[in-house]
Amino acid sequence: MTGGSNGNLESCFKIPEIKFTKLFINGEFVNSISGKTFESIDSRTEEVIANISEGDKEDVDLAVQVARQAFDNGPWPRLPGSERRNIMLKFADLIDENLEEIAALDTLDAANLYSFGKAVQIHSGAELIRYYAGAADKVHGETLKMSRDLHGYTLVEPIGVVGHIIPWNFPTQMFVMKVGPALAAGCTMVVKPAEQTPLSALYFAYLAKQAGVPDGVINVVTGFGPTVGAAISSHMDIDMVSFTGSTVTGHKVMEAAATSNLKVVSLELGGKSPFIVFNDADVDTIAPLALTACLFNQGQICVAGSRLFVQEEIYDKFLNKLLEEVAKWVVGDPFDPNVHQGPQIDKKQYDKVLSYIEHGKREGATLLTGGKPLDRKGYYIEPTIFTDVTDDMTIAEDEIFGPVMSVMKFKSIEEVIKRANKTKYGLAAGIMTNDMNIANTVSRSLKAGTIWINCYFAFDNDLAVGGYKSSGFGKDMGMDAFHKYFQIKSIATPIYNSPW
Ligand code: NAD
Repeated sequence: MTGGSNGNLESCFKIPEIKFTKLFINGEFVNSISGKTFESIDSRTEEVIANISEGDKEDVDLAVQVARQAFDNGPWPRLPGSERRNIMLKFADLIDENLEEIAALDTLDAANLYSFGKAVQIHSGAELIRYYAGAADKVHGETLKMSRDLHGYTLVEPIGVVGHIIPWNFPTQMFVMKVGPALAAGCTMVVKPAEQTPLSALYFAYLAKQAGVPDGVINVVTGFGPTVGAAISSHMDIDMVSFTGSTVTGHKVMEAAATSNLKVVSLELGGKSPFIVFNDADVDTIAPLALTACLFNQGQICVAGSRLFVQEEIYDKFLNKLLEEVAKWVVGDPFDPNVHQGPQIDKKQYDKVLSYIEHGKREGATLLTGGKPLDRKGYYIEPTIFTDVTDDMTIAEDEIFGPVMSVMKFKSIEEVIKRANKTKYGLAAGIMTNDMNIANTVSRSLKAGTIWINCYFAFDNDLAVGGYKSSGFGKDMGMDAFHKYFQIKSIATPIYNSPW
């Protein structure tokens, strides 16, 4: 369960030089006004990776001023869509050209698996930029005959200056998901990466400039949530805040937007997604999928299938297979290609996950496997599976955001629909059955923004993701995410003496 390669890890990758550590405002890397810095920590070793400029409200003010100027008077929103497209395509090419370095930055900063970053994740980020580049010249309004004397049409206009506040779990994916559609729409922006993972965001700002994105269009202010994040959500001159993070912070962002200038808000928040396995499912295929659905990225994924419901007939067989699979699950250095799970992002998350494990034990759940930190430096925790979990236990209700699975047995379809929906969240769900009638009935009945049938984590650039209930509102990915960065202006004009 723990370990990885015995060989020399350095032969698998190159620790990247940290080139960018300052705020990126108006096309330049600059120190924060206060001159303060904070440490970015390597969760594998608990050592400092780099000292990063610590932004504050004054830096946000400056970045917004620059973004406002770039929106009101600069070329970006005024360019033909095809020119924005070409610059974005160049940006995507530069991401691909620097793929290994970016993957290594995300592994250092976020402990994302390096092999996955190199093979899939960073290139997917470039592809998402290309997807939105392709949309930049396909923005249409509508025309309508309002009456015999009135002609009407709509203008689709970029929404303005956008504040993007993003979390740490997948730094590249979060950056491109927010910046891609907003760029294509012609918006200008201030991006606040999570304080734990500023490195790739700064690198992207540099690449965007090399690609030809004009100064002032993308500004990156690194720093903390209660200062930089709060200054963005309450800013009087930001037109929209696009937030991804926890539900607790989502409430604060929305409140700040409501009590400042009523900026448009989009919230992608937490989840506690059910992974439901029916009696007819193929245990050998689905048990490994269930494990990955919960443990991928150390369980730090908003759509993690952290509540596993298994129908009673196959329950024992499924648990046995799950145990067999978890025994093969390797925890170790995320640079190691043989490793499945790296360390948690930081000490705070590590302590939080361990305290949830203690809660689970105290509340009477059975600890099937795991439950302990690894005896080594870094924030490593064993993959942990609880059985005999009831719906009202803390580990079944709260988003743990760690490698902790709660397994529950169910009898009927009606029962599992009710229990799966018994959560304040509604981000995703998995339904494992070959009976299409069951799959369709359950999909219609679940209150979740994404449903995967006989698969999990099946993402596509063209498929919108987003929440129901306290998982938020407003979509990322797909054309829905593009459209949220526009507003519609309705225009009416009289026509005199029209015969029609
Ligand atoms: P978080 O809410 O603590 O932080 C997210 C971002 O908000 C960070 O940049 C942080 O600095 C900032 N922030 C913190 N306090 C703030 C405040 N008062 N005002 C404005 N900004 C503030 O979340 P996290 O721990 O970084 O990320 C994990 C959470 O993100 C989980 O709940 C996870 O489910 C969620 N998430 C959701 C999605 C999705 O698509 N729905 C995707 C990834 C992560």
